[in-house]
Amino acid sequence: MTTWVHDFGDGDKDQKDLLGGKGANLAEMTNLGLPVPPGFTITTEACRAYLGAGGEVPGLVDEVSSHLADLERAMGRSLGDGDDPLLVSVRSGAKFSMPGMMETVLNVGLNDESVHGLARRSDNARFAWDSYRRLVQMFGATVMHVDGELFSRALDEAKRDKGTESDLDLDADDFQRLVETFKSVVRTETGRDFPQEPREQLELAIRAVFDSWNTDRARLYRRQERIPEDLGTAVNVQAMVFGNFGMDSGSGVAFTRDPASGEQGVYGDYLQNAQGEDVVAGIRNTVSLADMAEIDRRSHDELLDIMARLERHYRDMCDIEFTVERGKLWMLQTRVGKRTPEAAFRIAVHMVDEGLIEMDEAVLRVTGDQLAQLMFPRFDASSERSLLATGMNASPGAAVGKAVFDSDTAVEWAEAGEDVILVRKETNPDDLRGMVAARGILTSRGGKTSHAAVVARGMGRTCVCGAESLDVDSSAKQFTVRGGETVREGDVISIDGTTGEVFAGAVPVADSVVVRHFEGEKLDDDLAHAVARIMAHADGARRLRVRANADTPEDAARARRFGAQGIGLCRTEHMFLGERRTLVEKLIVAEGDDGQEAALQGLLPLQRQDFTEILEAMDGLPVTIRLLDPPLHEFLPDLTDLSVDVALAEERGEVDEHARTLLTHVRRLHEQNPMLGLRGVRLGIQIPGLFRMQARAIAEAAADRKAAHGTPRPEIMVPLVASVRELQIVRNEIDRVIAEVEEDRGVKLDIAVGTMIELPRAAFLADRIAKTADFFSFGTNDLTQMAWGFSRDDVESAFFSRYFEHGIFDVSPFESLDQLGVGGMVEMGTTKGRETRPDLKVGVCGEHGGDPLSVHFFDRVGLNYVSCSPFRVPVARLEAGRSVL
Ligand code: PEP
Ligand code: MG
Repeated sequence: MTTWVHDFGDGDKDQKDLLGGKGANLAEMTNLGLPVPPGFTITTEACRAYLGAGGEVPGLVDEVSSHLADLERAMGRSLGDGDDPLLVSVRSGAKFSMPGMMETVLNVGLNDESVHGLARRSDNARFAWDSYRRLVQMFGATVMHVDGELFSRALDEAKRDKGTESDLDLDADDFQRLVETFKSVVRTETGRDFPQEPREQLELAIRAVFDSWNTDRARLYRRQERIPEDLGTAVNVQAMVFGNFGMDSGSGVAFTRDPASGEQGVYGDYLQNAQGEDVVAGIRNTVSLADMAEIDRRSHDELLDIMARLERHYRDMCDIEFTVERGKLWMLQTRVGKRTPEAAFRIAVHMVDEGLIEMDEAVLRVTGDQLAQLMFPRFDASSERSLLATGMNASPGAAVGKAVFDSDTAVEWAEAGEDVILVRKETNPDDLRGMVAARGILTSRGGKTSHAAVVARGMGRTCVCGAESLDVDSSAKQFTVRGGETVREGDVISIDGTTGEVFAGAVPVADSVVVRHFEGEKLDDDLAHAVARIMAHADGARRLRVRANADTPEDAARARRFGAQGIGLCRTEHMFLGERRTLVEKLIVAEGDDGQEAALQGLLPLQRQDFTEILEAMDGLPVTIRLLDPPLHEFLPDLTDLSVDVALAEERGEVDEHARTLLTHVRRLHEQNPMLGLRGVRLGIQIPGLFRMQARAIAEAAADRKAAHGTPRPEIMVPLVASVRELQIVRNEIDRVIAEVEEDRGVKLDIAVGTMIELPRAAFLADRIAKTADFFSFGTNDLTQMAWGFSRDDVESAFFSRYFEHGIFDVSPFESLDQLGVGGMVEMGTTKGRETRPDLKVGVCGEHGGDPLSVHFFDRVGLNYVSCSPFRVPVARLEAGRSVL
């Protein structure tokens, strides 16, 4: 038969699944011989049975009775006894800490009779009545669902009547009157009396804790923290010890190191004459542990001894709740403490130096997400701010600047030395210049994989997207916030890409020392040293290589400084914008081969220069250049805008032949569904000269680099391939061009030609495709889009929130790889590809290449490398190391 209840002595810290975090650690401390008030834990299994069976768990009541009897024997008192009552606390404790999300009831066992017994035995009537009113208050709020405000108000009134602000000035009579008031609040609000029977109190409190697993706020918290829904909580029933006995008693919380900075040395708060919840609720000012030493040296010293012991035992920073009852210290809780990213890195490395852990473990104790957070500049948390709106936290960081509403102004003002924030409804590839120039990007539409978000993350630029309460009016150069406030061009705003918040005015910002370290600055900074050591160890351990997605020499150089081992994706579409657009337009509209050829000849030297610079920045390392991918319409004017312009011009009797011709072609190329349209390899087949020109530019750039004694290692990648024949056709052309350049220049170039796998069909036919491809790179952005049938540009803002609510997935598949579906295709494609070509080099270059969980997956299925934006390179390096440790 299942055992639903375990005594504290009967368990250990590794049983968090069954006993919850709090129960497992109480068991561990009990077994260490620390002063823990005795008690027992009702398991998470019991909670699951309770929630599953609608409230009945066979045998649970009897087991609780028998453990309660043991507890009563051990304490020499019985629950709620009129003469000398045993009181217990009933606390929730899930496997993962969910601070403040679930219920706790203290002082269970007090009633109209036992309160007198407690007063007599403790010789402290004030304490007894204060404890009783706390029970009615907590029980009323958590078990009987009375609005807690009603109790707080009554307490405030009692203080006001007494002419004081502190509960310390209330005496036994005041508390006795409060108990009556509280009881009548319960009666009025629920139509029932506060239960006097101690066993009934206990039973109801246990049920309330179980039920609290399913409150809205607990569910919401679990969703945010990605805690599974079906774990349930344990319930800890423990003999009460009292911090509210008088000034020789108190409660406190402490950390064995500073959880904010990671600094060595204990850190904590103590409050005299108080129970646990008073410390956190901030009802009176707490004192530091150093001051506690002045108040009660013995308890303080014992506490510090125990903290040192716990840290050695857990080999990690612990947080602790304790109570002092009339000079005797009791430990109520411990656990491995939560900490900021900075503290995580510093503590891990300090503990290596103290001989507590090995370097392998230090690397496992930090995460890529923490590293990413450390890399972004931050707003100074202590400063004042005025919140305008909240959108999606698309690309972290803190940016301050003048609001501008178009790219031209962004570039112009930035060149004049201004910091600007580019504000748009949504961005398109044309906004790139403005995005590069801006400190941050704010949009009112679009999700985390919208153009603005992807490009901003790629550049490491702060971005808040989809702030829907903003009404952005680009022509009036202003936005209005729902509710009224208007921000005009030139007004300063601050955006926080880590939280999605938008503030009016300038919030002060601090630079990241971690980025300064990666950039090569020599810093005498403990955090920078800690990060350096962890990164060096992760690099030594990892199998997976890390490349960067970069398409400018600057990005390539930065990626290299950040540790990239090459470029895994150099997108070429950005090289066709700006002034080069007219050439691209010519290329598209040119009727005859001559016009097309002329446009291509115009583009060739420009492309050659692009590639030469990138190959130089990545000299000696592989650079995978992807041939042009996006649908052609992205390079042409918008159909509606152009139609209107032409119509208006004709109305005025003007004839603009160029605009007319352009309009014909825009119409011809207009696609209802451009993401499934003329793009990728299809472009190469439709306009063969285009890929030939790009291949030539790459080959000639490589030849130039060789002539300059460099070591160019370009690789040519063909996008959106679905059939072997598509790849064969363009590959033949590419190979021919490379051979021509080799012949002309008299050099051997060794340029590998491979393909992206970003369509399900390609994954299925990977064994055949590998015959024609020297390498594969999984484009998991498109592969996710095509596998789910989700438009990557629209879907997140459209309906993903519903999908999260229903638990269809708990994170966007565009953000973290859908390992089952899309991951299955990656694994299959890799296996099949290597059946044909055992040495096939396989990488991934979708956004997932920089996502921690996805990196672990790619490592497991045997990819050679991941490629991600320069700012994610350190994150991927760290996670690739953690994956093998
Ligand atoms: C992809 O589809 O995953 C990819 C890297 O290509 P892009 O994002 O440019 O479509
Ligand atoms: Mg793609």
